[in-house]
Order: sequence, then structure tokens, then C-alpha cells
Amino acid sequence: MPVLTLAAPNGKILLVTGGSRGIGASICRKAADTGWTVVINYVANDDAATRLTDEIRRSGGAAMMVKADAGTEEGIGAIFSAVDETFGRLDGFVNNAGVVDFPQRVEDYSWARLQRMFAINVIGATYAAGQAVRRMSTAHGGHGGAIVNISSAAAQIGSPNQYVDYAASKGAIDTLTIGLAKEVATEGIRVNGVRPGIIDTDIHASGGLPHRASESADIIPMRRAGRADEVADAVMFLLSDQASYITGAILNVSGGR
Ligand code: NAP
Repeated sequence: MPVLTLAAPNGKILLVTGGSRGIGASICRKAADTGWTVVINYVANDDAATRLTDEIRRSGGAAMMVKADAGTEEGIGAIFSAVDETFGRLDGFVNNAGVVDFPQRVEDYSWARLQRMFAINVIGATYAAGQAVRRMSTAHGGHGGAIVNISSAAAQIGSPNQYVDYAASKGAIDTLTIGLAKEVATEGIRVNGVRPGIIDTDIHASGGLPHRASESADIIPMRRAGRADEVADAVMFLLSDQASYITGAILNVSGGR
């Protein structure tokens, strides 16, 4: 449900799932800086979402935060209802909410682990993309827009002995990007993806590896982890008119990994 609201008149509306921390927060900051009104979705950490919303507003930007689980039908319904009721339009959607889990081999995965991972990373992301299409597609009376799906370099690496399930979930996101881009190509919507490599955010601690980014230099050709703002720059490009002839593309932002 929306907690704080401040809409910029005539602004384009961008929804970012998982927008309150890490890569999503960086996307929200950059989008607000360039005139988008940002809808910041998050699921649990009220303080982080409030801090980011306040920060954007203090900088002269427009932001609204929406607390809802992007891994459930009800949560996604609440997110898009908040957008509909507050703005009545949607111009951009960044499918960013995603989770990892603790390192395990495939034969040790529990059913519950897989259900959580795929509910958020795949089912939620696919359903949310569909909700965005319903609002933006010219076939539904919308005025077009852009979708950026956040995948991972893991989709191409496979992440053995760490989280093959996560890698597989991001492989599904890549296929979603390719198929959906073609499906809505004549309806004013561009759909692209970004595959971040190892980026310095809290996600690694949530998977039990708090030092993963700082200890990863040896396995990255550029010999350093990436920053959230470096991923956000790629996302902003794909959302922008500068990418007007780009759809179905998936851009690696991974330091060469
Ligand atoms: P992060 O630092 O862990 O931040 C996660 C964000 O997502 C938070 O805003 C969190 O909200 C929100 N979130 C988590 N589960 C959610 C749910 N069920 N519904 C709504 N919001 C939810 O993550 P990150 O590193 O920025 O990752 C963002 C995306 O990039 C993910 O899709 C991830 O797979 C992908 N990625 C990351 C890396 C990397 O190295 N960091 C690499 C490749 C791909 P709360 O604050 O309320 O918890």
C-alpha cells in the first residue's frame, strides 16, 4: 500500500520492484534525477524505503513507496493498483525484485527453497511484466513504454555449487525478455534485459556470503566487483529514447565476466 505520495505533474511514471535498496535504489535515484516519477516497491525494510523516498524528494524528485510482495499475485495486484490509483498511467517498468539463497548443491535443495526462489524471481517477474503490458500496450489503449528485466550473469554461468536454482531462474528471465519483446514489438513497448555480474549490494549477505563482492576480484576480468550505479546507468539507457530501436536485447554489465 502507498505510504507517502508526491507526484510530479506531467512526469513519466517508472515502477521499480525491489527499488528500495541495492541496484533498484540506484535505478530509482537516477530515474528521479532525470525527471521520472518513481514508484519504489519493497517488501520488508520500511526504513530503507522511507530513507530513499525522502532523499529523492529532498533532491527535488518525485517518489512514492509501495510495500508489497512482488512474489505473490496479491502483492503484485497491490503494486499496480497503487500505480493506477495514484497516477493512472505507467511509462516504464523495471522488473528488479529478486532473491538468492545459501550456497547448496542441487541435490540438497528443499521444495520450499525452490518455491520461494521461483515465486519471486520467475512467476512474480513474469506476472508483473504482464501487468505492465496491460497498462502500457497500445493494444490495451495504453501509450507504450519500456520494460527492463534484471537478469544475472549467473544465467550464462550456471553458478555450480552455489545456486544453480538462481541461475536457472535468471535464465527464465532472459527467455521472458526475448519472447515478450517480440510479442509486444508492435504495441509501443520495448522489452530489454540487463545481466549484472557481481555487484556490491546486500544481496550477497542475504545469501550467507557478506564478503562475496569484495573477495571476487580474481574471477572477474576487470578485477573488481561492480557498483549498483553502473548497472543503473545501463538500465537508464535501455529505458530512454536513445534505445528507441533496441528490443529483445540483454546487456551484460559484468566487468567482462
Ligand atoms: P538487494 O540489495 O538484496 O535488494 C533487494 C531489494 O529487493 C530490496 O529493495 C528488497 O526490499 C526488495 N525485495 C526483495 N524481495 C522482494 C519481494 N518479494 N517483493 C518486493 N521487493 C522485494 O538486491 P540487489 O543486489 O540490488 O539485486 C537486485 C536485482 O539484481 C535482483 O533481481 C538480483 O537477482 C539481480 N542481480 C544482482 C546481482 C548482485 O551481485 N547484486 C548480480 C546479478 C543480478 P526490502 O528492503 O524490503 O527487503
